[in-house]
Amino acid sequence: MLLIHCPWCGDRAELEFRHCGEAHLVRPADPAALDDTQWAAYLAFRDNPRGWARERWRHVHGCGRFFNALRHTLTDRFAATYKPGEAWPEPPI
Ligand SMILES: [Zn+2]
Repeated sequence: MLLIHCPWCGDRAELEFRHCGEAHLVRPADPAALDDTQWAAYLAFRDNPRGWARERWRHVHGCGRFFNALRHTLTDRFAATYKPGEAWPEPPI
């Protein structure tokens, strides 16, 4: 079983977590100024990298908090997890 490191609780089983999509999305400052294509892009279009991805996760069956993770999409390896607002880690070489 895969262990995921919650920044607050430590290592826990993957069953306690939920993937919540791409991390570091920034909501447009003035959504009313966007046309439908731009708004749809913000709401629905996401990167789908083959390799390292910065993702948002939630420890739903633990502390309930959100955090970010740097995960490899092919191997499921987590290089780092970090609290929202912390500096982004660089992917391993
Ligand atoms: Zn936790």
